[in-house]
Amino acid sequence: MTTKMNGTARAVRRAVRGQPTSDGAGVRLNRVIGTAALADVDPFLMLDEFRSDDASDYIAGFPDHPHRGFETVTYMLEGRMRHHDNQGNSGLLGPGSVQWMTAGRGIVHSEMPEQVDGLMWGFQLWVNLPARDKMTAPRYQDIAPERIPTVAIEPGVSARVIAGSFGGAAGPVQNTTIAPLYLDVALASGRSLEVPVPAAHEGFVYPFVGSVRVGDGDDGTTLARGTAGVLGAGDHVTLSASDGDARLILVAGQPLREPVARYGPFVMTTMDEIRQAILDYQSGRL
Ligand code: FE
Repeated sequence: MTTKMNGTARAVRRAVRGQPTSDGAGVRLNRVIGTAALADVDPFLMLDEFRSDDASDYIAGFPDHPHRGFETVTYMLEGRMRHHDNQGNSGLLGPGSVQWMTAGRGIVHSEMPEQVDGLMWGFQLWVNLPARDKMTAPRYQDIAPERIPTVAIEPGVSARVIAGSFGGAAGPVQNTTIAPLYLDVALASGRSLEVPVPAAHEGFVYPFVGSVRVGDGDDGTTLARGTAGVLGAGDHVTLSASDGDARLILVAGQPLREPVARYGPFVMTTMDEIRQAILDYQSGRL
């Protein structure tokens, strides 16, 4: 967009580089949120980027493991992942697809690569549930790529609208609690884009191809690939590809501002609830 929006542009409040780690049965990934450096961006508890064309980095996958008290959101860029849960749900996540899973009171599932070579690339985001919804029934939103609208703003500027609305398109994800905005933005070198982000939302920008400049003029911050920029206050964000083509995710949501008690795959509001989750899992009640 070439016109300047009125209101306040969001600046980068903190720039935090992701940390290489491994999870599941040894899947190598870049953990961006959910680290000592960046514990959370309320309501987002974790963001992992997995990207490798070396099967030994991902082939072991994420065998059976539980979740309770939050949502896991998987966005596949490349590759195929099969999920199964203990309630008989199964699905295949392919390139461009999204699975928004509400674990609620609990599921036990596996997420395993359905390929033995080639590139596996995508994100997993954890979204907190408010205390009142933590024990809700599990729910899946399995979203095929063709259900995600792509908005072409001008040549060299486009966005896939996974959640929320932008450029006259609405994303398919339903979540009235945090009213998420989740965009996958592609910017050709030298191009810029202004995106409205509701003033009450918290959020972040994460470039996964090239680097992106956030903010206007001298107040801007350049984020290198693999570095998250936590957004400060304002009602829109300006994104620019100042040094080559760029691609990024912009994720924002209404913060919950509730206590967070987390232990591995369980996220509750008190440690008593965590102990109950562990007991329920160990006795097969998830
Ligand atoms: Fe999982």
